[in-house]
Amino acid sequence: MTQTTYFNAQLFDGLHDGFTANSWFTVDDESGKLTATGTGDAPASDQQVDLHDQYVTPGFMNCHVHLGSNAHQLAAGKRSETEVTLLGLQNLQDLLKSGVTYVRNLSSHYDVDIKLRDAQPVYGFKAPHVVASGRAMSATGGHGDSPDHTEDESYVVDSPDEMRHAVRLGFKHGADVIKLMATGGVMSVADSPLDAEFTLEEMAVATREAHARRGKVAAHAQGTEGIGLALKAGVDSIEHGIFLDEAEAEYMKEHKVYLVPTLNAVQGIVDYGQGQIPDYMVKKASDFAQAFFKNMKMAVKAGVPFATGTDAGTPFNDFETGYFDELNLLVNKVGMPVQQVLYAATKNAADLLGVADEYGSLQTGKYADFLVLKGNLLEDVNNFRQADKQVYLHGQRMF
Ligand SMILES: [Zn+2]
Repeated sequence: MTQTTYFNAQLFDGLHDGFTANSWFTVDDESGKLTATGTGDAPASDQQVDLHDQYVTPGFMNCHVHLGSNAHQLAAGKRSETEVTLLGLQNLQDLLKSGVTYVRNLSSHYDVDIKLRDAQPVYGFKAPHVVASGRAMSATGGHGDSPDHTEDESYVVDSPDEMRHAVRLGFKHGADVIKLMATGGVMSVADSPLDAEFTLEEMAVATREAHARRGKVAAHAQGTEGIGLALKAGVDSIEHGIFLDEAEAEYMKEHKVYLVPTLNAVQGIVDYGQGQIPDYMVKKASDFAQAFFKNMKMAVKAGVPFATGTDAGTPFNDFETGYFDELNLLVNKVGMPVQQVLYAATKNAADLLGVADEYGSLQTGKYADFLVLKGNLLEDVNNFRQADKQVYLHGQRMF
């Protein structure tokens, strides 16, 4: 059993505010777990690594992506499973390089996220750890059920009984988490983000079935009514939450339901969409952007627990820089203090993903997934954009 001690670091451990100077931590090379941490003189070890007073954080987590999508090539028609898989492999590598060491995929065609999660330990390609939903649950004609829909794309569900069956199938096929399309969305032709698509009864069956299997439920929910129904049904996170109201924010704080706003999904379309993607998408995104940022400010003030996610794969919201943009928007558009953003990216995200026992903070007994950065994030969250940051998974340097 050999050990490596990293010393002379400015350490944010994921649990305590700020960076602690002159920190060290020891990693067991075989298990990839931390065996000791401290400050001051580092203990003797098989290997010593001087981090030269650089900034160390736990690996960051992106709680909402679409691995099988390409943010810069949207009008490609229906992709084969091979194409979706190739995109997924590239996207995973880009995520890891950007500093994301754990990712939650919320809907992929052909269940490619589940298959890549299971293939990684066998084939050893570079990837963050993956929490996978497989195909999402959609209502007929709703978000995720396009006119040329095929069953490879999502489960189409129209009653509590159908939901029970589909959720059980989802778990049978390897899902860790169930994704519900509770409302319409910006990117679907026929519906509006304001439409509440699933009934309370349908969603309540989904949460019952998921929770009975130690799984979680993430609800794509944008309009006020649909958000309210999803909360009542007992979902574990609200994704997007564009028209979240104060009563719902209060409920989320009280019941510790996470909000994953994915600001960059909307901002990407507003900034770059004109003339590049269908007009209805640009119009929907622009119409809703202002209300979105206003309501997210309200949610921060109300003390709603946040976890970071980008919706990567939506137009102009990619796997390389989209996460940097999301952190920037949280701080500079929504007014979340950087310290809170750091928790949303680590401790909170690990809790939402159900992996907080082993990930999300740098403590003895947890995995050594960490990043080494030149700049202090508390001074400028955009220091996270550093292209050559060091990325470690289980104590092994990946980039
Ligand atoms: Zn999404």
